[in-house]
Amino acid sequence: MAKVLYEGKLKIYGGWKEIGGNCVVVEEGGRKLVFDNGIRFQVLKRVYGGRVTPLGPREMQSLGIIPDAKVYEGAEALYISHGHLDHVGLLYEVPNDVKIVVPRRRIFEATIFEWYGNSNTWLSYVKPKIYAEVADAVELKEDEHGVIAVPVSHSAYPACAYIYQGRDITLFYSGDLRLEPPSLGLVKSLEESLQKLGIDRVDVAVLEGTNFSRGVENFPITAGVFREFMVNALSQFDLVAISIDPLDLEMFQAVIELSKISGREIVVASERLLWAVEEVAERFTQTVSLLGEVSAVTAVGVKYTSLEEVLYDRGNYVIIIEPVALLGVLRKLRLWKGEVDLVGSLAVLTDPEPREAVKEVEEEVAAKWLSMFGFQVYRLRLSGHYHPQNFFDLIRLLNPKELVPIHTEDPAYMIKLFRKAKERLGS
Ligand SMILES: [Zn+2]
Repeated sequence: MAKVLYEGKLKIYGGWKEIGGNCVVVEEGGRKLVFDNGIRFQVLKRVYGGRVTPLGPREMQSLGIIPDAKVYEGAEALYISHGHLDHVGLLYEVPNDVKIVVPRRRIFEATIFEWYGNSNTWLSYVKPKIYAEVADAVELKEDEHGVIAVPVSHSAYPACAYIYQGRDITLFYSGDLRLEPPSLGLVKSLEESLQKLGIDRVDVAVLEGTNFSRGVENFPITAGVFREFMVNALSQFDLVAISIDPLDLEMFQAVIELSKISGREIVVASERLLWAVEEVAERFTQTVSLLGEVSAVTAVGVKYTSLEEVLYDRGNYVIIIEPVALLGVLRKLRLWKGEVDLVGSLAVLTDPEPREAVKEVEEEVAAKWLSMFGFQVYRLRLSGHYHPQNFFDLIRLLNPKELVPIHTEDPAYMIKLFRKAKERLGS
């Protein structure tokens, strides 16, 4: 059942009182637009697990895990905020007459369409049908549907918020966003973008609130704490291995910048980050290479480093890992050499959003192996979402008349805080 607001102008099909599964429909001024097409992981995890897997999109629709076909009846376009599955969903199921707008098609094709599209599970439906129209979002300019894409910082790159300038309503849809990026310079700040657009108020802000929680939270660290931790670790440990979500280009760039300061070279041991290597290649030619042992493909213009070189001069390297891929190499080395002794090395497992995705790696298992090889294993969670202490700032920037909290377990709390913010800001 959809949550209906503003005399039917706004319908929320997913993401109301839950984290993930965003699907927001705006219908006014003679047009219908859909924002995000997410998978509702909270429902998915209740009905599937182990060998009980989805029979296909139709079953998932019937259980309310992905949006129903009627959501798209008469819609002009679907705007995807970023490539996380709780927003992008199964694009194969979107009817052909609906234009699909994504932040950057080229990157979607090199990442999620490539990784999931070739899967032999239900994840293959993440990829749109070949004849569906997939367009790039128009940044900081109004497109033919009255929508402006605003680039934002998030743990999946690229990410957009959208502003819809309709006949009766101006609406800000946040997607997922944070205000303190791990790396400056990759994404314009929201404040700068809004200034450029000359927008200092909206009627409705449909705003994510992931980090507002009802329970006691294992709170995510800030970008500043992360940088400080890394600077220390890079000066103290031998080899430093860090896992990065393969969509998180901002984090990738931050780790490269920090390694550069400490004079270390970066070796990427994850095929899924090949696109990121290409993305930053021009800026960091000398310092990024791929670990020869985990790459089946040879990319043009990319340097390779062998594990032997890394282990020989471990204090000189930061290795960016997908735990399973790195373990594959180390485990073979162990059988071959009898022992791999990495005592004095550090493995940092970053766990971006535990509640919003399918876990492909058993972290406990990976940690066990890494510590067997001698790594100290730490877990750090740097959130892709703004912290509650940034909330007043966001309200000041957007100056909305009304707030619709989404992608949160505690919308009621956000509404109360919104009233406080309005009082404090005197608006
Ligand atoms: Zn996200």
